[in-house]
Order: sequence, then C-alpha cells, then structure tokens
Amino acid sequence: MLNIVIFGPPGAGKGTQSGLLIKNHQLVHCSTGDMLRAAMASGSELGLQVKDIIAAGKLVSDEIVIALIAERIENHPHANGFIFDGFPRTVAQAEALDGLLNSKNTSISCMLSLSVPETELISRLLERGKQSGRSDDNEETISARISEYKNKTLPVADFYQAQGKLVEIEGIGSIEEIADRISGALKDHL
Ligand code: AMP
Repeated sequence: MLNIVIFGPPGAGKGTQSGLLIKNHQLVHCSTGDMLRAAMASGSELGLQVKDIIAAGKLVSDEIVIALIAERIENHPHANGFIFDGFPRTVAQAEALDGLLNSKNTSISCMLSLSVPETELISRLLERGKQSGRSDDNEETISARISEYKNKTLPVADFYQAQGKLVEIEGIGSIEEIADRISGALKDHL
C-alpha cells in the first residue's frame, strides 16, 4: 500500500496536491478538515460541537479526529492506499495513526512536507477566503491557525523524521511544478 501524509501549514497547498496524488495513485482521501466541514454542513451533533472551535482557528480534540480517520480506514478495506491531508496535526494523532495502520498490517510510506513562507500562506488564504465561504479564511483566524500549527503540529514532522519518512518539498511555484517535485521525490523515496 502507498500511505502518504501530506503535511504543511494552512495554505501550503495540501488539498490541491492531494487531489493530483489521488488521481495518479488511486488513493483514498482522508482530510479531517473536509470531514469536519461536511459534519457542519449537515448540521449533525458533531458539526455543532466543532463549529466554534474551527471558526476560532483552534484544533478540535484528538479524540474526534482520530475517530473520523479510524472510520474512514475501516470503510475502505481494499484501498490501494490512503492520503492523510490535515491529519495528523498533533504527535498523539500521529501515534494513533501508526496504531490504526499497524492493526491493518500496513504503515505510513512517507510524509511529504510542503514548505511555504508565511507571507505567501497569508496571502493565499486571504485570496481563497474571497471564494471559499470558509468561516476560518479571515485574517484573525488565519493567524490563530498558523500559531496552532507552530505550537502543536510542527513536532509531527520530527515524529516522522525520526522514522526516516520525512520528505521536504518546496511548496512555491506553479501547481504543476510542485506536483513534479512530489512525483520526483516519491520515485526517489519509495
Ligand atoms: P483544514 O481544512 O485541514 O485546514 O482544517 C480546518 C480546521 O479543522 C482546522 O483549523 C481545525 O480547526 C480543524 N481540524 C482539521 N483537521 C484537524 C486535526 N487533524 N486535528 C485537529 N483539528 C483539525
């Protein structure tokens, strides 16, 4: 199986590059952000529970997102592989993911970490906010999201580096240029 963690700060292009990887490698998309937005759109209890946390740019609890990922993996017993996008965002989530994959006799193949300067992230997210209608693509929430990323999510890169799985990708340039860097890196790494 090919199991990829796509990593980087908000606005790094994880969703865009995930879309291309899914097409090229027939992977199952596991985006906790998308799952949480779907829960909010459906008006479910989970959606109501996370709405204010997401609008504030804070992380929702590990328990909630780990349960979403466990269910997604469970629902795809014959998958070619999974791409984890916006998950894991804490070391506890990364440890739980290792456990979930282990129980299916598989593991993470690599972490692709997109690096993009902060000024570029902010301008991309503000631009996206004009169209996205997302409650968290505004200036105040963007800065809260970047600060959650620095405090809680960056250590996840060390977690995968310690396993020899961290692959750094320069995340600036056109979508195609970045996609080419990713396919080159996958060829070298796998
Ligand atoms: P994203 O679409 O990945 O940028 O996620 C949007 C928001 O959903 C984040 O700012 C968090 O509030 C929440 N979220 C998504 N994934 C996670 C996660 N793995 N852990 C905690 N909160 C998450």
